[in-house]
Amino acid sequence: MTIPRGEPVGEAPCAADSRAELARAVDALELVPYHAPQEAAEPARELERRARELGEESLVVRARLIGADVRARAGDNAALGRVAHQALTWAGERGDREVQCRCERLLSSFYGRLGDTATSLEHAVRAVELLSPAAPPALRIRHFMALAVALMLAQSFDAARDRFGSTLAMLDECDDPDVRVAVWNNVAYLELMAGDTGAALAAADEMRAVGARHGIAMDAVYLDTIARAQIGAGHFDAVEATLAPILYAAGGRTEPHDLAEALLTLAESQRLAGALDRALDSVHRALDESRRRGIEAFVVRGIREHAAVLAATGAHARAYERLLEFHAAHEAVQSAQRQARARTIHAAFATQEAVRESRRFREMSLRDPLTNLYNRRYLDDRLPALLDTTRQRFGHLAVAIVDLDHFKRVNDEVSHDAGDKVLVRVAYLLDAAVGGGGGFAARLGGEEFLLVLRDDAAAAARTCERLRDTIGAHDWSDLVGDLPVTASIGVAATFAGGATATDLLGAADRNLYRAKAAGRNRVAT
Ligand code: GH3
Ligand code: MG
Ligand code: MG
Repeated sequence: MTIPRGEPVGEAPCAADSRAELARAVDALELVPYHAPQEAAEPARELERRARELGEESLVVRARLIGADVRARAGDNAALGRVAHQALTWAGERGDREVQCRCERLLSSFYGRLGDTATSLEHAVRAVELLSPAAPPALRIRHFMALAVALMLAQSFDAARDRFGSTLAMLDECDDPDVRVAVWNNVAYLELMAGDTGAALAAADEMRAVGARHGIAMDAVYLDTIARAQIGAGHFDAVEATLAPILYAAGGRTEPHDLAEALLTLAESQRLAGALDRALDSVHRALDESRRRGIEAFVVRGIREHAAVLAATGAHARAYERLLEFHAAHEAVQSAQRQARARTIHAAFATQEAVRESRRFREMSLRDPLTNLYNRRYLDDRLPALLDTTRQRFGHLAVAIVDLDHFKRVNDEVSHDAGDKVLVRVAYLLDAAVGGGGGFAARLGGEEFLLVLRDDAAAAARTCERLRDTIGAHDWSDLVGDLPVTASIGVAATFAGGATATDLLGAADRNLYRAKAAGRNRVAT
């Protein structure tokens, strides 16, 4: 796979070409390599910048998701949770299935890392459901792999085995050695969890063979899987050689917890092989290393292994003391982990709340305070968008301007307050007239309202005629005494977005004028 580097776009000769090229680059980068994710960090930033320049929102979001995925693999899981939740909301509002699909897969790994296996599985299932049949095979493979991992973590071993099997079958069609190694690593891990040590060792061997064939180095995680499979199969004497690249890394290049983990795996194999002195030595080294680096979780595992080695030497009293110590330390680490998990979730959702909050404020600024109907600002935003949709989907759209007749009289002859109450009640009747058809009612200003209906001219005229009748027949006497309250309505409609918002409102206004001129309390189309 080639990772696109950020060469400057310069003067794009043709926007459509650079869009297609950018989309291809994002597609390619989405296949972040399992063994070297950081390589995708800088290109993801660059692609996001270029997508922003071209105004390609969907590509901006996808590039940012790639960046978040990379950060999560480097340990910043909260960032992934935050970005993926926001992107999912964004995609849900626009019905962008492609982005939704990617968010679901990344949320599955976010919750998997948090240890919330049920939620992880839910997202993984959706990630596969949302997958487009046109998705590139390499992406499909990753989605199936995510589902298999989620099933494995949820301990649904048979289902996970099936999914890993179909992932391997897909890899026969479209090979990606990096993914193949990762699948075999997961299969080995799964079989260890499921207790089938023979199958675990076979999978570990496959993993090593694929890696050797394609020059993919076995990193610490892979080596630990192999060593554990060897322990499971009783091949204790092979373990030290397997872990040698971590145990004896030149220049201390290993990650701190990789070394602690390798020492503990080694100690366990030495203990099970009966080499108790060497096991004790490895445990002490693991404990030193974990304490020095402050990795509490490994200190706890070290104490447990120490207790096991002591018990094997027959020092039962000391083993028992160590075991008590282990339980206390284990509790402390678990509580710290629970707190860390809560912090991560909070970090992921705090911004979500802020988004919802600002949406609520925005929503407020789009409402008319007296009637709570949408206002002019909302209309200016929404009407062109609705016209766009009808253009794409060959739909009908109608608008109707509703103006109360001689409303000035209500203010003059009763009171301004009564006028306000009439306006509120009219707003209620308008809202009811719109019904659930995807239209809306707005207050244009004063005693002038607008209905937007997803109807053709004839259906809209019928709705308006009913509304006119309802307003005229309503008992207004508690507000205005004997004064009549009626409305004149001008309707205009368009098909497949053939008219602009300005055309449509202009036509409705001319019809309203005709209705007024013809004697008021009527509908003109
Ligand atoms: P026409 O049938 O020609 O539409 O006559 P009209 O009196 O309804 O129209 P005109 O435009 O002359 O007057 C509109 C009146 O609506 C003016 C003002 O007194 C009243 N009005 C506008 N906004 C409000 C409001 O928020 N509350 C109240 N109570 N009255 C308002
Ligand atoms: Mg009026
Ligand atoms: Mg008016």
